[in-house]
Amino acid sequence: PALKLNDPTLLRSHAYLNGAWISGTNNFEVTNPVDNSVIGTVPNLGADATRQAIAAAAAAFPAWSARTGKDRAAILRKWFDLMMEHADDLAALMTAEQGKPLAEAKGEVMYGASFIEWFAEEAKRVSGDVMASTWSDKRMVVLKQPIGVCASITPWNFPIAMITRKVAPAVAAGCTIVIKPAEQTPLSALAMAELAHRAGLPAGVINIITADADKSIEVGQVLCASPIVRHLSFTGSTPVGRILMQQSAPTIKKLALELGGHAPFIVFDDADLDAAVEGALQSKYRNAGQTCVCTNRFYAHTSIYDRFVEKLAAGAANIKVGNGAEAGVAQGPLIDDQAIAKVEDHVRDAIAKGATVVTGGKPHALGGHFYEPTVLSNITADMKIMHEETFGPVAAVIRFSTEDEVIAAANDTDFGLASYFYSRDIGRVWRVAEKLEYGMVGINTGLISNEVAPFGGVKQSGLGREGSRYGMDEYLEIKYLCMGGI
Ligand code: ADP
Repeated sequence: PALKLNDPTLLRSHAYLNGAWISGTNNFEVTNPVDNSVIGTVPNLGADATRQAIAAAAAAFPAWSARTGKDRAAILRKWFDLMMEHADDLAALMTAEQGKPLAEAKGEVMYGASFIEWFAEEAKRVSGDVMASTWSDKRMVVLKQPIGVCASITPWNFPIAMITRKVAPAVAAGCTIVIKPAEQTPLSALAMAELAHRAGLPAGVINIITADADKSIEVGQVLCASPIVRHLSFTGSTPVGRILMQQSAPTIKKLALELGGHAPFIVFDDADLDAAVEGALQSKYRNAGQTCVCTNRFYAHTSIYDRFVEKLAAGAANIKVGNGAEAGVAQGPLIDDQAIAKVEDHVRDAIAKGATVVTGGKPHALGGHFYEPTVLSNITADMKIMHEETFGPVAAVIRFSTEDEVIAAANDTDFGLASYFYSRDIGRVWRVAEKLEYGMVGINTGLISNEVAPFGGVKQSGLGREGSRYGMDEYLEIKYLCMGGI
């Protein structure tokens, strides 16, 4: 399908370095996951361009960090306004390269923009501190200063929001940044750079290096090895997070890692069942199940298990699958062949080990990267779906009897990003919320992400928090001044 934008200049075919659009010796194609049609091409850059981008960011840092927070806020606000103005185009571009339905893409543009708005406001509130001194002749003062040049490696599942959640606080704090967007979705990133340029962000403050899957490894190595880069933020898989952490050890980089999750979703016997089903559908099938906070394991109390499974399956069977650019479609294609292969593997493995397919359970009749919204029951602990992130539209529902048993099961994982549970018992709500070993707990809701809330995980789901007033701390260093001779 042809991609029509109101402002065709948002579709870029060059990378963005030091305020200019640059080409490379080679390009790679960006395709639409609906039918593999080519939407555009972008430069396939490597080590040299990455070094140039780091140098540009370093050159821009002194002037950018010397500006007032209020001044930086004004430019960020302009960037936010331009995103609002071009929201339809940004959404159309995102649906074309990522596959999510247009309404969800529009939702992500709003969500992504909200980080720019929020951190523009926060730029004015980076305040230091004065301690009560225990020395009568000395004063103790704390300054907060931008950490310096930052780097950011982002995934394809939220092509805009995963960039703004890192870039907005960095730039608001006075840092400059080099961004390596996912190879599947560089066009959204470049459209954002075009808008940043129009907003008046000075050359070198943000730089976007595009690279395919192979070259991304080289770009990542240069970003990690550089002593100039003081902070690396990454959203992606836990294995790649480990590699980046290892590669960053020699330069003792500060790291913000948003890695994989394996969210449990518990439905207690006192839950509002219809509300739980609605939250379950949102938490499972949004973005075709391709979010790191998507539920991977549903635990339903034995007294309501059958009814929950039945209602969840009815809801899943109702989801319209198709090209996300078409009206009424609620689930688009998965991102690529590997994604489909992983989902098929998890479902096949579960069935072989005794799971029952309640609805779906196979690739969609549309073919390609489409998969049926699926519900599986009779799940056992030995199935892959119980341990590995499925990243697809498959719900696995497990039966439980006691609160202690289900908390132990929910915590029995190396991941610790999002978790959810439904209960109307206030005592249980506190007990369970405190015992779940997760960075985020949705209680009687399946949707938790918001720019004012701290997003992040514990255990092997990552380090640091993004969004909220805590999100700014990532990009600030604390400096202590001890002033004597008073
Ligand atoms: P996903 O499963 O979401 O594709 P990945 O962790 O593979 O997650 O990819 C997320 C981001 O990390 C992408 O921008 C990708 O290009 C990048 N990436 C993948 N492998 C490496 C690597 N070895 N070094 C640096 N970046 C990498």
